[in-house]
Amino acid sequence: MTLDHLKTWADQPLDPPARLAVIGDPVRHSKSPAMMQPAIDALGHSLQYVALQVAEGAVATCIDLMRQADFLGTNVTVPHKFAALEACDELDESARQLGAVNTILFQDGLTYGFNTDGPGYVRAIREDFQIDLRDLRVLILGAGGGAGAALARQCALEGCERIVLANRTLEKAEAVARDCRTLYRSEHLEGPMDRILAIPLEDLPLREQLEFTDLVIQATSIGLKPTDPSPLSPSLLSPHLLVSDLIYRDTKLLRAAHQAGCRIANGQTLLLHQGALAFTHWFGQEPDLRAMRACLT
Ligand code: NAP
Repeated sequence: MTLDHLKTWADQPLDPPARLAVIGDPVRHSKSPAMMQPAIDALGHSLQYVALQVAEGAVATCIDLMRQADFLGTNVTVPHKFAALEACDELDESARQLGAVNTILFQDGLTYGFNTDGPGYVRAIREDFQIDLRDLRVLILGAGGGAGAALARQCALEGCERIVLANRTLEKAEAVARDCRTLYRSEHLEGPMDRILAIPLEDLPLREQLEFTDLVIQATSIGLKPTDPSPLSPSLLSPHLLVSDLIYRDTKLLRAAHQAGCRIANGQTLLLHQGALAFTHWFGQEPDLRAMRACLT
């Protein structure tokens, strides 16, 4: 569906009505509708969760139209998480601290913004690797993007031992590094190595840092298309690494990492847990995780 559908919603009502959505560009690949609908049905609500294709620059209009169309809320995906933050009336602590919004709730005429990617990722890492995020030295590829920056800030809040922020546009990673330092517990910042460091997304600096890394988080949008290359050269991978790709299917990076002897996880577990937390914001109760998980296999 597109913004045009929203504009004519009242003339062509859906049955059951659409009251929740994921907005993004592209959005057709999103598994959120398939994952969320069974949990909504399990609560006995007669409403649809739909995917809405929204172009850059149209997020505020879309959010206005959704509010007018009596939506309960929406998820927000690539590339709209910063624009969504701007469009909210109120932000919860997670959205404020993580600097991006992936979940919106419409209530009493106001638009509330949340970020469930960070807390959802903590749960996902525990499930995928049976280890706590706070115990890991992390390197984030794409740390200047919406998801990468949010996870970087979550790592700072967790007090991870090292946080290396790699981004194609270095200035964005440097800005995120500054934010991370303010969120990090100050006594931890001291030590022989930089605890929080911004680097360009290039082989040489990446090679230098990977030796001191436990977990690589792949948060660029490279890999969304099956023809995309790996954002990290396979020659840089070694078996001590845990490699977590936020894209929710196996990518070239994950295949190369598996071959190199690394433990790997794709973004499905994050999708599940960030979705479960969003659901709780909308309905005030936890979803049926098993019903959601069954749609992801
Ligand atoms: P975003 O805000 O658009 O950020 C995109 C990031 O990718 C930026 O860091 C950007 O670097 C980098 N990038 C894009 N093209 C690149 C290229 N050709 N070379 C190098 N870097 C490039 O997107 P996002 O919302 O953060 O999402 C990023 C990825 O995470 C997407 O694949 C999304 O599907 C995934 N994600 C998954 C979940 C889940 O539930 N599993 C949740 C959130 C996000 P610049 O800053 O230099 O432009």
